[in-house]
Amino acid sequence: MFEDSAFDNERRDFVLGLRCISCGRELAAGPGVYTCPACGPKEGILDVIYDYERIKRTVSREQVTGSTDYSLFRYLPFLPVRPDTPRPHLRVGWTPLYRPIGLARQLGISRIYVKDDGQNPTASLKDRASVIAVIKAVEERMTTVACSSTGNAASSLAGNAAAMGLRTFIFVPGRAPQGKIAQLLIFGANVISVQGSYSDAFRLSSEAIERWGWYNRNAAINPYLVEGKKTVALEIAEQLGWEVPDWVVVSVGDGCTIAGIWKGFCDLYRVGWIDRLPKLLGVQSTGCSPLADAFRENRPWCPAEENTLADSIAVGVPRNPEKALRAVRESGGKMVAVPDEEILAAMRLLGRSSGIFAEPAGAAGLAGLRSLLEKGEIGREEKVVVVVTGNGLKDVKNAIAAAGEPIKVEPSLDRLFDELTRRKLV
Ligand SMILES: *Cc1c(COP(=O)(O)O)cnc(C)c1O
Ligand SMILES: [Zn+2]
Repeated sequence: MFEDSAFDNERRDFVLGLRCISCGRELAAGPGVYTCPACGPKEGILDVIYDYERIKRTVSREQVTGSTDYSLFRYLPFLPVRPDTPRPHLRVGWTPLYRPIGLARQLGISRIYVKDDGQNPTASLKDRASVIAVIKAVEERMTTVACSSTGNAASSLAGNAAAMGLRTFIFVPGRAPQGKIAQLLIFGANVISVQGSYSDAFRLSSEAIERWGWYNRNAAINPYLVEGKKTVALEIAEQLGWEVPDWVVVSVGDGCTIAGIWKGFCDLYRVGWIDRLPKLLGVQSTGCSPLADAFRENRPWCPAEENTLADSIAVGVPRNPEKALRAVRESGGKMVAVPDEEILAAMRLLGRSSGIFAEPAGAAGLAGLRSLLEKGEIGREEKVVVVVTGNGLKDVKNAIAAAGEPIKVEPSLDRLFDELTRRKLV
């Protein structure tokens, strides 16, 4: 069959088109098509539709398992990029899935896995989306990429764009932590620090993108970015030998990550590589929980304040609320909000029991899991994967708030003896 010839596979991806999540209308994928023209940029979020039958016929699970591409591109048939488009040299994805025994013991649960996405090139899960963004920008012959972000989307875009030789304009809210700003500046981004909230930064970036015609990496608007994020689910499935866990736990801001995780598992299910789907637990901070509140009260979401130290999920006006809520509901999962103190406690627990350093939003998932275990809403015999979405070095201020100060001592063994004895450390 011509369709399956090697010639064809080298040049084409497996994308059939785009479908609007509100009205169901199908559109051809092409440059400049980001949202449904009938529903508009708020409601008209698009989903990428693949030729699952063709994937089934031409690619096997075993082929992927045998791949020596230790990056998210081992799943190329499930990605909306042409095989012949240049890619940045950075290794994005294929992050470790650990089974930390100490953490399991502390939580009183037998099968807990931690997917450490802080080990991506710019130290957050956002690299999965940004690497797709810069590849799509090159496919569309753009030379400048822009986004607004609470920090990690920005630093990952700046890093991946630097690796591709693209120029970036980054709009960040005034409160972004220094570590993330430092990354942006080192990667050579044009950094616009918007003196206002994330919503203000988002609006200004949209206006500027429109005005100067830059490539738009705003995650909810650009349908290809969720496709990059979904690879975390493909990896979890493969790393567990294609045995799907009972729960996948992740923190939620705009909602693109959790929606992406759901898309990933659904894609695998559609091609028959897995035989069931996990439940999703989406976690927010009680200081900013528009989606967890809407879920719990089973009502439409409404804007919330942004009062949390977990800056990556301080999103009062989420950009992908419907996709996120739908994903959690379809999965038969839950959403929960936890106070910031519990997020800080989860950072300590993760660090001390497992040697994994998470930023607050990266540990929020674990805090949510802990709370549902205590309430008995997740069983201690269930198999759970917690996704750590970002590394703690991005935000050392809050890490020190979580962990406390070091033991200060004069350079004298006697003084050290006194201090250690007083603290009952020796
Ligand atoms: C962006 C981000 C999230 C949440 O992802 P959304 O797509 O906004 O829901 C969680 N943790 C970290 C570290 C992030 O950077
Ligand atoms: Zn539509």
